[in-house]
Amino acid sequence: MKILILNCGSSSVKYQLFDMTNETVLARGLVERIGLSGSVLTHRPAGKDKVVREAEIGDHKVAVRLCLEALTDGEYGVIKDYGEIGAVGHRIVHGGEFCDSVLITRETKAIIGDLVKLAPLHNGPGLLGIEACEGILPSTPQVAVFDTAFHQTMPPYAYTYSLPYDLCRRHHIRRYGFHGTSHKYVALRAAGLAGRPLAELKVITCHLGNGSSITAIKNGKSLDTSMGFTPLAGLTMGTRCGDIDPAIVTFLMEKEGLTPADMDQLMNRRSGVLGVSGVSSDFRDIEDAMAGGNERARLAWDIFVYAVKKYIGAYTAALNGLDVLVFTAGLGENSPAVREAICRDMDYLGIKVDAVKNQVRGQEKDISAAGSRVRIFVIPTNEELMIARETLAVVRAG
Ligand code: ADP
Repeated sequence: MKILILNCGSSSVKYQLFDMTNETVLARGLVERIGLSGSVLTHRPAGKDKVVREAEIGDHKVAVRLCLEALTDGEYGVIKDYGEIGAVGHRIVHGGEFCDSVLITRETKAIIGDLVKLAPLHNGPGLLGIEACEGILPSTPQVAVFDTAFHQTMPPYAYTYSLPYDLCRRHHIRRYGFHGTSHKYVALRAAGLAGRPLAELKVITCHLGNGSSITAIKNGKSLDTSMGFTPLAGLTMGTRCGDIDPAIVTFLMEKEGLTPADMDQLMNRRSGVLGVSGVSSDFRDIEDAMAGGNERARLAWDIFVYAVKKYIGAYTAALNGLDVLVFTAGLGENSPAVREAICRDMDYLGIKVDAVKNQVRGQEKDISAAGSRVRIFVIPTNEELMIARETLAVVRAG
């Protein structure tokens, strides 16, 4: 079966078409600047040159239509007609209390619509993508795969905030966690590399990218994760502050005369590694600035590394031990320096990285030193493939 994966952002649509007989990517692409001037589609058919098309792309419906036209184009398309697409899998960031991927029906769509209030920037576009497909591919099954679903196994003591209970219930305030598709994918890969069933392992997965989160996985289930009610919580990130004393929020709003929207912007866009260093949100720039002696870049880096270390320690305690530690996403896959710094002086926990093996970038590798009790892996994440697999499973089951 051929499966189309759509990942709709506020002004972009990313797509990949998989042939699930051998899990190969037939084509991938991106529509950018939807609703803005200079909209553009970049289409990459496997084994051929990329195609760039500028067009007026007013909304997600037009964008999805352009993706489908690119896939069926006589010259650079990879399928003859839309009928070859057996199913569409949508990445939906917030799945509320959905604990699995679901077939999109009138009922599930209504629930996803309701969740827009919890994640307007993410779920709104996702819903538009679903509706666009319903219009263009009315008889093709569609599946929603949620970033939050994997974390629905967390026990109440891990997901409940110590705020007034009724208030939290009324507003659906709890830890949801995000990046679940990535954590699940790399955990499954890690179990494969370790040669043991995931159900028997204690695993910590570190998804370190622009947005970063860490998950403790026990017997194949998410036990705890660093992101919370929103993807702002947990680690210091590129531009997000992660965990801070919550009193700072009201203190700063009062002192600086900030509105809730200003404060939201400050914590999401002007904080994190960018806010501390004043240099950049990108760790490549931070590493360069540190090499040039920039003290604030060094401070931002130290804060990040220390936060990751603390989560690994806390989650090792929560798991009562650790078998496998995984690094993934832009930074986790590509920065030997960050991995080395995180794992330095962790031998008490049985974590020892091999300096030579750790020089890997963007490839699957066991980087544990001889004698390391914990197996340490670098595993490139593949959320799209995971979404395609989930979509196939849901369509087959349904
Ligand atoms: P997103 O969360 O947007 O999906 P990615 O997982 O692609 O982000 O991660 C992007 C981040 O990864 C960049 O901002 C950068 O900080 C980091 N990164 C990517 N490549 C490298 C590298 N070679 N060295 C250090 N950091 C890197």
